[in-house]
Amino acid sequence: MNGVKDMFLTFLGATGTVTGSKTLVETSGGAFLVDCGLFQGPREIRSRNWEHFPRDPASVDAIVLTHAHLDHCGYIPALVRDGFTGPIFCTPNTAALAAIVLRDSAKLQEEDANFARRKGFSRHAEPKALYESDDALQAIDQFVEVEFRVDFHPVLGTTARFDPAGHILGSSTLTIDDGTKRVAFSGDLGRDNHPLLLSPASPVDVDAIVIESTYGDREHENVDAELEELSAAITRTIKRGGTVVIPAFAVDRTEVLLKALHDLQDTNRIPKVPIHVDSPMALAAMHVYQSAITDGDPELTSAAIAQGPDIIAPANLFEATTPEQSKKLDLGGARIVISASGMGSGGRVVHHLKAMLPDRDNCVILAGYQGVGTPGRALLDGAQEIKLHGKYVPVNAEIVDVGAFSVHADATELIEWLRGASAPPSRIFVIHGEPDPSATLAGRITRTLGISAVVPETGDRVEI
Ligand SMILES: [Zn+2]
Repeated sequence: MNGVKDMFLTFLGATGTVTGSKTLVETSGGAFLVDCGLFQGPREIRSRNWEHFPRDPASVDAIVLTHAHLDHCGYIPALVRDGFTGPIFCTPNTAALAAIVLRDSAKLQEEDANFARRKGFSRHAEPKALYESDDALQAIDQFVEVEFRVDFHPVLGTTARFDPAGHILGSSTLTIDDGTKRVAFSGDLGRDNHPLLLSPASPVDVDAIVIESTYGDREHENVDAELEELSAAITRTIKRGGTVVIPAFAVDRTEVLLKALHDLQDTNRIPKVPIHVDSPMALAAMHVYQSAITDGDPELTSAAIAQGPDIIAPANLFEATTPEQSKKLDLGGARIVISASGMGSGGRVVHHLKAMLPDRDNCVILAGYQGVGTPGRALLDGAQEIKLHGKYVPVNAEIVDVGAFSVHADATELIEWLRGASAPPSRIFVIHGEPDPSATLAGRITRTLGISAVVPETGDRVEI
């Protein structure tokens, strides 16, 4: 017991940005975090990962994790190292995917620190990793798996429940009830057209909703038109002998892309060139998806289950597991390379971008959200050169933006999800967006739904 009688929320991340998701919930039974994500993107945002956590991590009783993306789970190992020992509640598929993501994240943090040390381009004399592999393994040990639609208790006297969010495998919306008040979190909200996952569940009768706003001021284009654009870009690049590089989030985006490429090859809309998935994490995640499909997981569409795991494994798929296999891809030639990270800010795709961007025969396809300050956003905005690993690289390759692969609801879909609530909440908190999309969505909610919607700032503590 912590002396708190009512429910309080404190917004510790994903405020004014789409990363670093962290909301502290205090109820009479204790304090827990909903998500504990890493800040990603430009240096001034990433530097927030190094700030002192505003509360003794040992005093946090639990973490409730909505899904396995790094911007929602990537800070957990740091919190564990600094004294957090409580349970981390998540769905079984989130546990499987987050284990892959956290191990990879720790390794990347270690590698980046080593690379910076060797090349001497860090501002710090002795670059340090944010956390290490042992911290990630300890965090994974604290996972407690809870199925969808089953009540659990993050702290005494508070009930919580996960429902499918349709965003990535295992992703959930969350409802918490402390006996006096009920709050729903959208987590990252998917769309109604994910090729593998069921649509997001509607919110139930709650006092307040915390909603994401990644695309709070944008509407996605027609998927068929964008698939046409994708197939046209691939076809003309292959025709001129170029390589197609697709930076892709390792979890889910890769699977959605593979499914699309599989369909496009099957209908002869793109040439049957080799497709390389070059990311150990993406490959590990792909195997989790394949197992879920094989097992007929209830969050998957019946069509995906009926088609079986080959749905995301086209016949000419090559798995690049070793660094040598990865390096060979930079020799060029008619092929498609899918590699992480999705915004070109880290991982093996940075090497591919360095090798491919100077040649006008090649093509980089941007297939997802590109955060401010990332190489992907610079390409999207038409940069003539971009900085990769501390060096400027000329951009001569063709750049194509295909938003069809977004696994985030657009503005209208967010509003429709809220409208689907069994009773309207009295308050809405808009987070997980850059300032303009968040403000636009909040305004639209107030105008069209007549519900008070605010965009909280970092550190704001509100009583529900
Ligand atoms: Zn996400």
